[in-house]
Amino acid sequence: MEEILIYSEDYTTLCELLSKGKSEAEEKNIKVSAICSEKLDEVEKLFKYGADKVYMIKDLNELNLNPEKLTAILQKIISNIKPIAVILDSTKNNREAAARIAAKYKTGCITDCINFKIEENGELSAERMVYASKAIAFEKIKGKPAVLTIPRRSFKAEMKWNNPVEIEEVEVRIEKTSIKVLKTDVKKLEGKPLEEAEILIVLGRGVKRKEDCNMIEELAELLKGQVSCSRPIAADLKWFNEWVGLSGHKVKPKLYIGIGVSGAIQHLAGIQGAKIIVAINKDSEAPIISAADYAIIGDLYQVIPKLIENLRKRKAEQYK
Ligand SMILES: Cc1cc2nc3c(=O)[nH]c(=O)nc-3n(C[C@H](O)[C@H](O)[C@H](O)COP(=O)(O)OP(=O)(O)OC[C@H]3O[C@@H](n4cnc5c(N)ncnc54)[C@H](O)[C@@H]3O)c2cc1C
Repeated sequence: MEEILIYSEDYTTLCELLSKGKSEAEEKNIKVSAICSEKLDEVEKLFKYGADKVYMIKDLNELNLNPEKLTAILQKIISNIKPIAVILDSTKNNREAAARIAAKYKTGCITDCINFKIEENGELSAERMVYASKAIAFEKIKGKPAVLTIPRRSFKAEMKWNNPVEIEEVEVRIEKTSIKVLKTDVKKLEGKPLEEAEILIVLGRGVKRKEDCNMIEELAELLKGQVSCSRPIAADLKWFNEWVGLSGHKVKPKLYIGIGVSGAIQHLAGIQGAKIIVAINKDSEAPIISAADYAIIGDLYQVIPKLIENLRKRKAEQYK
């Protein structure tokens, strides 16, 4: 039976990829397998999210995976099972491992796919954004295994299968790798991952002083949202550690509010997944206005205090 191999070190992403993989594979009678660590408590649930089989790697968590080690693990399993596809979530390490695997098996690799399907002849085709998300490329991989990487939160994890539990323990001995990790600096994250925010309030260079972020924070608190920014606010002014956009986080909130953000193409590339876009900008010609579902044309220093006042009033009325 043909097989698709899926790996993510993040449990939720693994479930998302399994559910999507299984939905694509089940009619074609293709098996969907996951790689995970023996330490994973919720391993049996993976079968409800679509896994037909789990390859359990001893000490996977302790392996301090770098792309070379991950490639070695994948290669060991690939050479045994000869899957038609290998799907990884799009982290930096995984993208590098994906390229290494594709080169090793002289096959194709498509990174950062937004969708994929299995064609009738078993080949994989995928879609991905190109030209700073202005267009979608439809691509097909001819060799096997097809190698894909897919960003987190691209698909919904669905707990709807009742597959029997089948776990195979795999022992992988990793030889020395040429990558030596000298130091790890854990990046400080503000709140939960931006990709998970349902309401995201993003400030741009229209906000003039760092202390003005306080009113944006207050607005976010009233809306139960999370605050982030455009690239210059983080990369140049260092008010935040992370930003939204092509070179930052690609977000998918239900509500995105851009405050004093112009909507440069690289910024818009990161908010394609937002359900509702609201822009607050004093320039009616700013590109974000045409990308927005709703826009308030005005000075943020007048608009935001009014919004805060109204939201506070509403909240007070709720508890009357
Ligand atoms: C390779 C590359 C990758 C990049 N990646 C990213 C990325 O991932 N994310 C990203 O954000 N950018 C990215 N950029 C930078 C991008 O091109 C823009 O320079 C940046 O997004 C602009 O940030 P901004 O909208 O905050 O500032 P500006 O472009 O300066 O816009 C400020 C906006 O605020 C409005 N404004 C000013 N004052 C007020 C006020 N009082 N009230 C209301 N509105 C006001 C203005 O009308 C303007 O529209 C990248 C650039 C390159 C070259």
